[in-house]
Amino acid sequence: MRRRGYVLLLTAAMLFLFALPATAAQVFVDGDQLDVSTATEDGTTLVPLRAIFQALGAGVNWDGANQTVTAAKDGTRVQLQIGQNTAYKNDKPVSLAVPGKIIQGSTMVPLRFVSESMGASVDWDGATQTITITSTAQTPTGPVTTQTTVHYIDVGQGDAIYIELDGNNDILIDAGDNGYGNTVVNYLKSKDVDDIEILIATHPHADHIGGLPAVFNAYDVQTVIDSGVAHTSQTYERYWTAVKAEGAKNQEAEGQAWNFGSCSFEVLGPTNTYQNLNDNSVVTKLSCPGASFMFTGDAEAEAESAILNNNLNADILKVGHHGSKTSTSDSFLSSVSPETAVICVGEGNRYEHPADETLRYLQNVGVEIYRTDLNGNIMVTSSGNGYDVNVNKQGVAPQPGPAPLPEPEPEPKQAVSTEGKYVGSSESDKYHYPDCRYAESISTENLIGFEDADDATAQGYVPCGVCKP
Ligand SMILES: [Zn+2]
Ligand SMILES: [Zn+2]
Repeated sequence: MRRRGYVLLLTAAMLFLFALPATAAQVFVDGDQLDVSTATEDGTTLVPLRAIFQALGAGVNWDGANQTVTAAKDGTRVQLQIGQNTAYKNDKPVSLAVPGKIIQGSTMVPLRFVSESMGASVDWDGATQTITITSTAQTPTGPVTTQTTVHYIDVGQGDAIYIELDGNNDILIDAGDNGYGNTVVNYLKSKDVDDIEILIATHPHADHIGGLPAVFNAYDVQTVIDSGVAHTSQTYERYWTAVKAEGAKNQEAEGQAWNFGSCSFEVLGPTNTYQNLNDNSVVTKLSCPGASFMFTGDAEAEAESAILNNNLNADILKVGHHGSKTSTSDSFLSSVSPETAVICVGEGNRYEHPADETLRYLQNVGVEIYRTDLNGNIMVTSSGNGYDVNVNKQGVAPQPGPAPLPEPEPEPKQAVSTEGKYVGSSESDKYHYPDCRYAESISTENLIGFEDADDATAQGYVPCGVCKP
């Protein structure tokens, strides 16, 4: 008996080595069960491409000479070569967790590839070992739900933000100081980034562009957007040399916009050239179905006020200039009206960022604050119905110091809230219910009352995204 057990074990090991284990998962496509077997490799479930794509209504062709499968449906054409990590969807690269391979005569691909290439929704139930694939062809007008993750990478006192979009599109905003270039590169590698579609160099300060030469070294970068403002520092020289050597498209920030699936990414600033380098920061906004994000670099109050005419409303605000009190002005914060704030800041930095004042202000309007000095890397994932925040450490924020004592005789508050149904600020374009936390943060001299929504609209105001008047 013992001997037999040994032989069986050996056979199992050989199967594993030479054929990959077939798993007993059941596969359903649009409600019908397929008679196919699946496999796993490195924790990735592999499924037979031909059977599933055909069940989804795609035509499938095999070119034996080039070891290439082509599948086509409704104007979508997918090409995959056996052994390659990159497939092509309408000639755009799609990366595979493991390359496509032939197992017992079937071309096997990672399960996720089915959703990425054919836009089908894929559900995996581990308990019942069931894979349910639903084609989205029945609702061609509905937007395909995408998932986007924004990674605020901990680079001490500096910024480095990686945006992971569907369809293998990658955006990087800054890369910290030059000591952190490799931290950023390693982080991107750990997320299987293959190349960078858009790189934003917000402004020439070392804590933002210092790490970029390492990124250019490691990655093919397609487009670089910067403020167009040069600096005399060696760090800037190194950055500029790397940009030129990269041969990427280099553009000055001037209102560019891109669409990635159902997300859009747009450049909002700078709209002027400023004496203060921080104010030249490239300001961008990412809008996805589940959440919108504002990225501010080190823009300070002057630059913030110059872009107030845009729709700044965003769920998640990257707080300007590491939480310095020279950024996050009243009018800017109430225009963005975020629910969540992320501060990229180094522990014990010599600038004493973030300022107590900024923290208090954010807390007063009920914004949830995350900080890279306390939370490490901060990942915000948006899907169709909202967003989740994950952090790699749970730090406890020291309470900001006490608020300065109020003026001895404060001016009596204007009783605006009783004069109209809604209120707004002369410094912003939002109107609110008087009890909205943003309404309460408007200073008395800027407070305006509106009789009703029409009155507010007529004066060029739009509803606040938080109190939704
Ligand atoms: Zn900075
Ligand atoms: Zn700066």
